[in-house]
Amino acid sequence: MNALARLPEADLADDGGRKLDARLWVTDDLVAAVAEAVAAEYAILPAGGLTSAINAFGYERAAIDGRFAGVVAIRPKAAAEPELVEAQRPLDALKPHQIAIDSASATVAIGAGLTFEQANAVLEHVVGPGVRVLIDLTSVGSALAGGVLATGGMGPLRLRPSASCVEVALAEGQTRPRLLRGPAAAEIEGLQGWTGMASALRLRYFETPANEFGLVLPVHGTDGDGLADFLAALHPWTALSLPEEGSLLAGPVDEGTIVNGIELIGRQALERFAAQAPDSLKAKAGNLIQACDYANADWLAGLTGWSNGPVDEVLGLLMNAETGTIGGVPIDFGVGFSSGAEMESFRAIREGAPDIARSQARVKRPGKLKPWSISTDVNIVLAPDAAGIARVLAVYQDYRDAVGRVFAESGAAIESSLSVYGHLSPHGLDPHHRVILTAPEGGEDGLAEARAQIEGLKKTLLSGLVGALGAQDRITGGEKGMPSILELVKAVGGAANLPANLRSELERAGRVLARAPANFSFRAPILPR
Ligand SMILES: Cc1cc2nc3c(=O)[nH]c(=O)nc-3n(C[C@H](O)[C@H](O)[C@H](O)COP(=O)(O)OP(=O)(O)OC[C@H]3O[C@@H](n4cnc5c(N)ncnc54)[C@H](O)[C@@H]3O)c2cc1C
Repeated sequence: MNALARLPEADLADDGGRKLDARLWVTDDLVAAVAEAVAAEYAILPAGGLTSAINAFGYERAAIDGRFAGVVAIRPKAAAEPELVEAQRPLDALKPHQIAIDSASATVAIGAGLTFEQANAVLEHVVGPGVRVLIDLTSVGSALAGGVLATGGMGPLRLRPSASCVEVALAEGQTRPRLLRGPAAAEIEGLQGWTGMASALRLRYFETPANEFGLVLPVHGTDGDGLADFLAALHPWTALSLPEEGSLLAGPVDEGTIVNGIELIGRQALERFAAQAPDSLKAKAGNLIQACDYANADWLAGLTGWSNGPVDEVLGLLMNAETGTIGGVPIDFGVGFSSGAEMESFRAIREGAPDIARSQARVKRPGKLKPWSISTDVNIVLAPDAAGIARVLAVYQDYRDAVGRVFAESGAAIESSLSVYGHLSPHGLDPHHRVILTAPEGGEDGLAEARAQIEGLKKTLLSGLVGALGAQDRITGGEKGMPSILELVKAVGGAANLPANLRSELERAGRVLARAPANFSFRAPILPR
């Protein structure tokens, strides 16, 4: 029996919950582990923080049988503390727990086993306050650097890792990883590790204004035109472009103020959160629900950013002094948050709603079938044009209305909920809509019918979004890289109907996959042309 066959079983499942037949190798030398697995003719599943929910590790049995000796998931050993090494350490020699800062080029080399939160803590300590990499997905403290590049994940800033990643070391089976620079590094982003295992990444870092702020305003979700005016007014503040040289990040309108996200918090989702929140957050969440009541609003828009001044000053900058509004949205019921513990509670509230929806979707209750859940995830970069933004928002409104009708038709036996949360920035509009259906045991048929209807509506939503785009608007896929694009292909009825930028993404992925070692590409889907 070879050494890999003696490894423990990996606790990984495919989308249908079927346990995957794979061994687990946790190592502090990814490059050597990959080389040994390739030599032993194993198929490899690169693993990171295991925070990806959908389609992360599944493979077809037929892709393995007769081709490989087995399947091994290779995962970097977690590091409680990153080890800071000299700036000159080559990227291909960096171990998963190591980090190297090169202040001359304002770049940081990060081992694939570290989180970006760990990297930012080292940058703050070594370079100075407010110095960070611009990766802000909400799992920034649990997803690992290699996994984030592989999924092409992004947070409120709506910047993919490739926006600032300049070099990747890719382990493919040789004794040294292959170094991919510039566009070649971006080519493997979102390909889910189907081409190799990233062992280290080099990213540009930036200095941001020292204070953090959060500003929460009640908005009317059903008033698409009102919301569109609000987002169009904020558009210039969110259109961040990264400086070519140097590391000082300046706001697009006011140098010392950067709006780094506009997040949607649905009132219903907030109520569900408040009911379960710890006391320290209950009062804050209660204030926000009250703000919705006063303003008769069903949603909250949470603006976040970095500023030199306090949150009141930011409000003064964003507000139209004549109307006392931001793009028509009154600020009277707004609630402000500032750096430190305040911002932590803001984030806990903002993320509480999606967390509850995610865990609700996973938990099987006595007497009930396992809940069925589906979520939307399409990132659109919109031109600063209120009419165009309203057109896109109307497609989401149609989806919500139609989902509501399915809920009503499926009757009381099926518990149903729709949670709306996520990204509203016109620089990356992607409001996640998660539907959860829970049927009683024996209610398989009713569940299957409601499920088919919701799946159909999601397809209509996706093709509606593609159809609603103006000439200057762009769909950039979703947070799951290539799987998000493939979902769009199905919805629009083939790759030929995709917007041009996504067609070229597909072509690029096809070229990269054709060159990739079979030990990694065995689980890649056949890409449509
Ligand atoms: C609470 C929570 C919040 C989240 N918030 C966000 C968010 O704001 N934005 C967002 O985009 N996503 C979010 N996610 C999803 C998830 O965190 C991201 O997809 C993340 O990028 C996955 O990183 P990971 O290290 O956990 O990867 P894993 O889940 O371990 O793996 C994901 C994929 O990447 C591949 N992979 C892993 N490591 C490597 C490597 N070193 N080299 C090559 N391929 C590799 C795997 O094979 C797999 O295909 C969230 C998830 C949770 C649970």
